[in-house]
Amino acid sequence: MSINIIGGGLAGCEAAYQVAKRGIKVNLYDMKPNKKSPAHHSDKLCELVCSNSLKAARKESAAGMLKEEMRMLDSLLMKCADKSKVPAGGALAVDREIFSNLVNEEINNNPNITVINEEVTEIPDGITIMASGPLTSDLLSDKIKTMFGDSLSFYDAAAPIVKFDTVDMNKAFFASRYDKGDGDDYINCPMNKEEYDNFYEALVSAERAPVHDFDVMNPKVYEGCMPIEVMAQRGHDTIRFGPMKPVGLKDPRTGHRPWAVVQLRKENSAGIMYNLVGFQTNLKFPEQKRVFSMIPGLENAEFVRYGVMHRNTFIDSPRILNSDYSVRENKNLFFAGQITGVEGYMESASSGLMAGINAAMRYIGEQTVTLPEYTMIGSLSRYISDETVSKFQPMGANLGVLPELEQRPRDKKERAKAYSDRSFAKLTEFINSRGL
Ligand code: FAD
Repeated sequence: MSINIIGGGLAGCEAAYQVAKRGIKVNLYDMKPNKKSPAHHSDKLCELVCSNSLKAARKESAAGMLKEEMRMLDSLLMKCADKSKVPAGGALAVDREIFSNLVNEEINNNPNITVINEEVTEIPDGITIMASGPLTSDLLSDKIKTMFGDSLSFYDAAAPIVKFDTVDMNKAFFASRYDKGDGDDYINCPMNKEEYDNFYEALVSAERAPVHDFDVMNPKVYEGCMPIEVMAQRGHDTIRFGPMKPVGLKDPRTGHRPWAVVQLRKENSAGIMYNLVGFQTNLKFPEQKRVFSMIPGLENAEFVRYGVMHRNTFIDSPRILNSDYSVRENKNLFFAGQITGVEGYMESASSGLMAGINAAMRYIGEQTVTLPEYTMIGSLSRYISDETVSKFQPMGANLGVLPELEQRPRDKKERAKAYSDRSFAKLTEFINSRGL
């Protein structure tokens, strides 16, 4: 008997390697080269569809920490990335051809892996990992939709998320409209008329990200999540009567209702991250930083995720998956990669790594594993399966998903180092105790 893996992208290849190295046979399916998504061009497996950067190299950064944890867990993709790296300042960038060739060589020469170039249109029986990515083919998406109903999204229309401890609470205040709900569910950033007018002008004139042909929006999906800058263009006060309406709120500092309000809603149960309610946007990232930092209270806010609007098939993992990437209703079915709502090349690969280890554990009848919450990989798997996350948006590696440090150095670099030191120590302990 073999383990099936659907999709030979970043997550699928990493998962296949992890299963195969545990002595278990794998059938790895990919529809390439017979059929390709609009973003895939190469005939080979493990294609980097856009940038060749795998983000920050420094271990004392969220992205660097994730990659180091993957190295500690014998990641195939990290081995190939380290061998194919090209100079890129502080980032780990790769020669995409060499990177993909190295991965393909490993996969094709592995006696435990059989690559099958076929579009999968049914979810197979037996232990299976679904890693068909953000551009999963339509027929397979339909099957996933039949299984999970409306819990499958086709577009990612996400608002930016900021780290709570970087919001200036001398300007912003906690309150729910008409005092409904828990005290810290919403943070309100109040604006007076002048602040609103300046913000409005900056918002409508800010530079937008290009829309790709495969991002063409399905109007039905799109209507409910119009970009804030597009809504703003309808009229000077449209957003003041929409997401920025001040009704039911009183600024405790003035005792009055503000002219306009930006509300931030708690993103995770720990309250470390907050999202800007109704602020899904297609502005370029530096423009988001510039314009949204004009919001009173967010002048120095750290954005753990910028808003995006693009085609992205992903399941509502907090309602569907366990933290070991298995489906709650079917323990033999795993999901991995961007389709689980992790965001980014290496985040996708890291979930493939964990799904691969856990599918192998399931195969040999052992308990599956979730890495400690202090690790980036463990925190991401907990975040995507956290039932308290209500409006689920995909998430990349960032320090906001980690539990707070017991002692927080004031210096940003030292703080990042403390997070990574803690992660590597906990992961070493875990690897030794579980024999991973
Ligand atoms: P993929 O790498 O896409 O792999 C999925 C595989 O499944 C593909 O090979 C596909 O052919 C196959 N497949 C799909 N349907 C079927 C089927 N029915 N049967 C068989 N095979 C199937 N992240 C970054 O960090 N940096 C970026 O610059 C970046 N740019 C992106 C640009 C675009 C246009 C998109 C869509 C995403 C981008 N991402 C980026 C996000 C994400 O990191 C990548 O999409 C990443 O490749 C996801 O890995 P994956 O393994 O989940 O999916």
